[in-house]
Amino acid sequence: MSTTHRIIAIDGPAASGKSSVARELARRLGFVYVNSGAMYRAITWHILERGIASDDAAAVEQLANRTALSCELRSHDWIILVQGADPTPFLWDDRVNDNVSRVSSVPRVREILVEHLRRAALTNDVVMEGRDIGSVVFPETPYKFYIDASPDIRARRRAAQGQHDAIAARDRADSSRRASPLIIAEDAHVIDSSNLTIDGVVGEIIGRLKLKGLTIAS
Ligand code: C5P
Repeated sequence: MSTTHRIIAIDGPAASGKSSVARELARRLGFVYVNSGAMYRAITWHILERGIASDDAAAVEQLANRTALSCELRSHDWIILVQGADPTPFLWDDRVNDNVSRVSSVPRVREILVEHLRRAALTNDVVMEGRDIGSVVFPETPYKFYIDASPDIRARRRAAQGQHDAIAARDRADSSRRASPLIIAEDAHVIDSSNLTIDGVVGEIIGRLKLKGLTIAS
């Protein structure tokens, strides 16, 4: 896909801090923030609402093919609507946490969502976070980051958010699936956020973007 817009890809495992970092980075740069995980969560929520088991890949694929998805820009966030409804309030429910990795492993689901994700960059400069943004969705962008943190710290961060989320199991599933697994893109800049604040990580990314020649307003 070719676009004249700038794309900053931020990948990493669950609870690595990438959402907070990506959101703050987008705010500082005036770019649109795209949370690709929220899109996989939205389709997972819809599948569960329809009573479909997340491990029934054929039924998941069938429903994904029949579901009308659209995206809209709200403030500076790229939001997904499912059959015209906004599923945002339900996306971090325990049952979505428990099923999202299975739904995300279905190739047809990925194909549909990747198309929506690419469309976001046709009309906007974006900071997009996920698992395969630098490796699959926008392999051609020169601005790729991979944010990690120790498993211990990631588990603590998620618990502090009051969420029941088996992040180790999700990471295993996301890294071992056949379709677009979580990997570190060859040309990604890796940041360990274990001992850094959000501002510390954002600062490191901005420094790196400047070195790469990205013009930054502030
Ligand atoms: O980023 P978050 O943890 O909210 O993502 C939820 C799930 O969505 C991940 O565990 C993964 O299964 C899936 N995902 C994905 N590809 C992306 C983003 C998220 O498969 N680009």
